[in-house]
Amino acid sequence: MKYGFKASKLSHIFISHLHGDHFLGLMGLVSSMNLNGRTDELHIYAPPELKGLLEYHFKVSDTEIRYPLHIHETFSSGAEPSRKLEPLFDSRDFSVSTIPLIHSIPCKGFLITEKNPPRKIRKEMIQDQALPPEAFENLKLGMDYTDASGKVYSPNLLTEEPKPIRKYAFCSDTRYLPELASLLNGITTLYHETTFGHDYLPRAELTYHSTVSQAAWLARDIQAGKLLMGHFSARYRDLNPLLEEAQAIFPNSYLGLEGTTFPV
Ligand SMILES: [Zn+2]
Ligand SMILES: [Zn+2]
Repeated sequence: MKYGFKASKLSHIFISHLHGDHFLGLMGLVSSMNLNGRTDELHIYAPPELKGLLEYHFKVSDTEIRYPLHIHETFSSGAEPSRKLEPLFDSRDFSVSTIPLIHSIPCKGFLITEKNPPRKIRKEMIQDQALPPEAFENLKLGMDYTDASGKVYSPNLLTEEPKPIRKYAFCSDTRYLPELASLLNGITTLYHETTFGHDYLPRAELTYHSTVSQAAWLARDIQAGKLLMGHFSARYRDLNPLLEEAQAIFPNSYLGLEGTTFPV
């Protein structure tokens, strides 16, 4: 809300694990959407216990959610933790898989993979031709367009190859898992928690968190396009030393501060 994002545009929410800093705002958000008269579906992907927590909250607060709220489990309770990417959600434009993380309680990261990126229209080739909007939709998807007179427009001539598929991996919270390198190779943008500087390694290991250097090693090992860091311990007033620590290992590292926007 603070940054002008409309909650009505939000259709899917992904919750990694059930530590309070990762989900407690959900009760307020879900309830506000109800008060604002939402009618669209909302899908929440979360650990299995979330459903009971939300339902208990709705019960004690006598709240009736009047829009379709679907809560999906990111893993089955009692199942042996998977060490692989597991498919979670699929749409026309992208798919989402869970990333196996290891934290003090069960935790999953999320890998978002773009599907069918649109081909680029070659403006110089179409500027003299009055084509309707649906022609562009076809051409961008790599399909022919036939106009009313039967003339066929081919995407081979009028468009360029799409940009490479973009992949965004969200890894929070977790201890350092070098084995993720084989699962996340070539990620366009890696978000990885960096709760501590490497001088606090014992503390990071004790709390199943990662250090800045560990996140940067993973970004380097998977040849990520960029690393976004976050989930900093409250002990850090100045984050620049953390940024410098990361950039010494992986130069294309950034502080993922609230309110900042990064292209994936
Ligand atoms: Zn946590
Ligand atoms: Zn956390």
